[in-house]
Amino acid sequence: MSSTATRAPHGIGSVRPVGWAYDAAPMIVYWELTNACGLACRHCRATAMPDPAPGELTTEQAIALLDDITGFAGPGEPLPHVVMTGGDPLRRPDLVQLVEAATARGIGVSLAPAVTPLLTRERMEWMSSAGIQAISLSLDGSTAELHDGVRMVPGTFEATLAALDVAAEVGLSVQVNTLVTESTASDLPAVYELLRRHQLMQWSLFFLISIGRGAELKELSPGEAEKVLLWAQHVGRDAPFRVKTTEAMHYRRLGAAALLRSGKSREEVEAHPMARAFGIRDGNGIVFVSNTGEVTPSGFLPTVVGNVKESSLVTLYRDDDLMRSLRDPDTFLGRCGRCEYHDWCGGSRARAYAWTGNPLESDPLCPYQPRSEP
Ligand code: SF4
Repeated sequence: MSSTATRAPHGIGSVRPVGWAYDAAPMIVYWELTNACGLACRHCRATAMPDPAPGELTTEQAIALLDDITGFAGPGEPLPHVVMTGGDPLRRPDLVQLVEAATARGIGVSLAPAVTPLLTRERMEWMSSAGIQAISLSLDGSTAELHDGVRMVPGTFEATLAALDVAAEVGLSVQVNTLVTESTASDLPAVYELLRRHQLMQWSLFFLISIGRGAELKELSPGEAEKVLLWAQHVGRDAPFRVKTTEAMHYRRLGAAALLRSGKSREEVEAHPMARAFGIRDGNGIVFVSNTGEVTPSGFLPTVVGNVKESSLVTLYRDDDLMRSLRDPDTFLGRCGRCEYHDWCGGSRARAYAWTGNPLESDPLCPYQPRSEP
């Protein structure tokens, strides 16, 4: 890691300097402050409940974790960005204290609140004044019927659109997350048109992984997913916000392939701004801490490598054998192992695990046949 490199947070899904390596530190720590939540979304990774689970980190343990995170960087080096998620982080009574403790340590914070009556204008004004760099809101359909059918609480659709507008008014950057499944994919163009009428920084298409409550929903087929990614690439060229994907890393293959087709060399592709996202995937640039302190490579890859109540997050991220394998695409199996794009993409390790039980297997959502056959 270069001591002169600077991380430039642009909210959730921050970019990194081109050429950044993730062996020493992740770019983002996703921290599930609590699994308490007033919603009961059909795809919830956290299988959130109305009340906090036993064993959630105490305030003292949570602040010790923030102290530990400062150990990821030496003098002059950028710290990881922390995304406080849930459940609903607004259900955490010490949220203000934790945000203040993070920012006092130089740690950038984003927040992923649930859209419930707790998400008031006053709280959003506090987020803005407290230096929260961005919030994420979920919008899973272009109509109340479609969105509320996923979120399972009537009125959430209108409340989400209202929250989007309040965020703009109070100066908060917003990322909107939209679930992509077999039943939501055909509605994406309508969601896009709806979002164009609001102010947001980034739209993230979250390709379902069948874990938690999401196991009841159906993922797209590889061919259907490729069509959605090509469509996203197309609309992303003129969109008034950035269009990205979550757990569909092969979106980068499409972008890189387009640059290579235009005559750019691999070196020129790696110097392109798009390359800032290259390589980020479960365990590489990302790490997840659960409400009870369990550490996993991401929120969607549930293999526990340790607990911050007993071990340093820095040590677990850097030295755990699984985490090290996830950062080395040469250890990947099948198509992802021999793919000429694997340094830039690497596939969803979480989906490989969900489908095969082995996080080093190929991403089953990607239809690409690598040129270098065994
Ligand atoms: S085969 Fe794997 S590494 Fe290659 S583009 Fe597809 S998901 Fe990415």
